[in-house]
Amino acid sequence: MAPKKPAPVVKHEPVNYTPIIINDSSQLASAEIKEWDQKYQPTKTKEVEAPVTEPVEIKETPEDKFPTLSYLAQMHGTYLLAQAADGLYLIDQHAAQERCKYEYYRTEIGKVSPAKQELLVPIILSYPTAESLKITENIDKLAQLGVELEDFGQNTFIVRRHPIWFKKGQEEDTIKEMVEWFLVDHKLTIAQFREKTAIMMSCKRSIKANHHLDEFQAKSLLEQLAKCENPFNCPHGRPTLVHFSNSDLEHMFKRIQDPHQGNSHEM
Ligand SMILES: [Zn+2]
Repeated sequence: MAPKKPAPVVKHEPVNYTPIIINDSSQLASAEIKEWDQKYQPTKTKEVEAPVTEPVEIKETPEDKFPTLSYLAQMHGTYLLAQAADGLYLIDQHAAQERCKYEYYRTEIGKVSPAKQELLVPIILSYPTAESLKITENIDKLAQLGVELEDFGQNTFIVRRHPIWFKKGQEEDTIKEMVEWFLVDHKLTIAQFREKTAIMMSCKRSIKANHHLDEFQAKSLLEQLAKCENPFNCPHGRPTLVHFSNSDLEHMFKRIQDPHQGNSHEM
């Protein structure tokens, strides 16, 4: 059992001083008072910090330090169990992978990389006239997201190549989905479309529930997650992990000693 973190103790150092007697408030500015203040300031500060004995709230925001996790097991092909110095963690493997992939795609989509994969069979897309016009208007914006449509006549477009980060076998679906966004809401900025693309790609490529990960895969997922800019949430905002702190566990198992009963229960 991990030892319970002791409550912060307020130290009262023995203070030997000659009382300073003041008769009116103007004397508060005296050198004597100033010296006393400086000398005993640290004790004062400690007393202010004292009421930290209340339960500490678990705050999971990007500013917090991500725990150093050591992998324990996988559960139901869905959750990973890991321990850290401050307790037990349950990690949602789908949410965790989504986060890792999302940060990867966000970087890739942002790069204006000339690296493209030629399609063996070009994709031909055809749309009704009104939609074709809208697509033609947004053809440059689409190109900035890596979707290169060429006018192929009679309301059709041809795609000959795509960015290397498109998933094999899903090129056509991915392109169609991205074109669809422009038909629905072409007013989004390129940055917003990049964000949408990164979320879509991360979701498409992430492992779903009921998927066995071997120890190596599980450990490497945890390592990747730890390197993320915001490892605490998936791009949709769901948490990637939940924490049972040592004191949460101690409370759940009633291992916390009741101060009124003394040390009677051997644990
Ligand atoms: Zn998600």
